[in-house]
Amino acid sequence: MSSRDLLILAFYVVPAVVVLALYLRLRGRGQRHLIAIRDAAINAGLTEPASLHPVINPNRCIGCNMCANACPEKFVVGVIGGKAELIDPSRCIGHGACKAACPVDAITLVFGTAKRGVDIPVVSPSFETNVPGIFIAGELGGMGLIRNAVTQGRQAVEAISKLKGIGRGGNLDLVIVGSGPAGFAASLKAKELGLRFVTLEQDTLGGTVAHYPRGKVVMTAPMQLPLIGTAKFTETTKEALLEFWQTAEIKAGLTIKYQERVEEVVPSGAGFVVRTALNSYETRAVLLSIGRRGTPRTLDVPGEHFPKVVYRLVDSEQYSGRSVLVVGGGDSALEAAAAIAAEQGTAVTLSYRGEGFARAKEKNRQKIAEAEAIGRITVLMESSVEAITEHGVRIRHKEHAIELPNDAVIVAAGGILPTPFLKKIGIEVETKYGTS
Ligand SMILES: Cc1cc2nc3c(=O)[nH]c(=O)nc-3n(C[C@H](O)[C@H](O)[C@H](O)COP(=O)(O)OP(=O)(O)OC[C@H]3O[C@@H](n4cnc5c(N)ncnc54)[C@H](O)[C@@H]3O)c2cc1C
Ligand code: SF4
Repeated sequence: MSSRDLLILAFYVVPAVVVLALYLRLRGRGQRHLIAIRDAAINAGLTEPASLHPVINPNRCIGCNMCANACPEKFVVGVIGGKAELIDPSRCIGHGACKAACPVDAITLVFGTAKRGVDIPVVSPSFETNVPGIFIAGELGGMGLIRNAVTQGRQAVEAISKLKGIGRGGNLDLVIVGSGPAGFAASLKAKELGLRFVTLEQDTLGGTVAHYPRGKVVMTAPMQLPLIGTAKFTETTKEALLEFWQTAEIKAGLTIKYQERVEEVVPSGAGFVVRTALNSYETRAVLLSIGRRGTPRTLDVPGEHFPKVVYRLVDSEQYSGRSVLVVGGGDSALEAAAAIAAEQGTAVTLSYRGEGFARAKEKNRQKIAEAEAIGRITVLMESSVEAITEHGVRIRHKEHAIELPNDAVIVAAGGILPTPFLKKIGIEVETKYGTS
């Protein structure tokens, strides 16, 4: 080999081979990571997306990875073996950024799958349902994301303000149900237009946003809030967004009725009666901005009314030094139990009626197993809560009744979806099995 050949080898060929080897190694590692995410979702049975999601045509896909890079949630879509896949379907929240990014139009956005239908209420372009006077805005109507919900809430109230009978008679003009992004924007618009209205919320301000994990990065787009102006957020955190809304609520002088769940809407004269456990409201129109998460499932046991019983974990720190019962077997229950067990001086019991945590992610199952192994959590499978007292709980565990000291109960037993509520009102609902 001549000295010129040796130079070429040293300066060009060897570095090129090293770079290629490094690239292949990293790619292999990346692929293994994506496959692990996909397998974990399959093993946990989390293979069905909640609502709007991408379907990727493998014949068109060129494996460029632009969809995966565009998705703000990260590792929901991934390219495995040269083709894009939805690797963690249950984490897809329907941003649709993947579809916009695909250079070869390989992605279609659809609701539901062949296995699991998604119920979408039928609404007119002005958001009115088949029941005249009842409107739907936000995620319940199928269109997720904060900015869409805000825009729809505002537009729906604009349409409601033009209904015959608004501003006349002794009844309210409008009852807004829910104070997530859609209901909050609708309430600001109703206030701006001088409507006589109330907003009823079963929980707190913010809807689904208030339930995001602590510190979650929120991707959104600038949005127009009546009375407040343009909120210029693009990337923020859950906490910053909630604080912005809380300040806007005070600034606009809104009075939302929290902890008041709407149980029934029935026709009455030219309008409706909206019933909650606390009150009845006569109104000309109703805006349902109740999202798709539904109402938390209750235990229906004596003592559930004690204020120590809650349906989601807000801050694990508040439980340090306390005896806590967590009820449920899904990811929310396991995450709550593990987070509280990590706080100082807690005694955590996790009660679940099933035989195993089959529906939870492997990562969460592992956390519980580790905490149980070091005595930080007591797990009671095949158990159910029988009664809650001021300072205790009674649990049926197989054939035994167990009494435990208790300071707090967190029920994370899933939600009752809104479809039966809509059907009872007479609202037409279409079930979509993988169609747009
Ligand atoms: C984990 C996760 C991450 C997300 N990240 C993003 C993101 O980064 N960017 C983005 O744009 N979107 C994101 N989304 C989607 C976004 O949060 C929702 O699309 C949006 O919150 C929908 O707003 P909404 O007002 O229609 O419904 P919701 O936010 O669900 O609010 C509905 C409200 O109605 C109340 N309610 C329900 N039933 C009743 C009743 N019977 N009586 C009284 N009140 C009732 C509920 O308590 C709730 O407060 C995410 C969703 C999830 C689950
Ligand atoms: S952007 Fe389109 S072509 Fe590129 S990997 Fe995703 S689906 Fe395939």
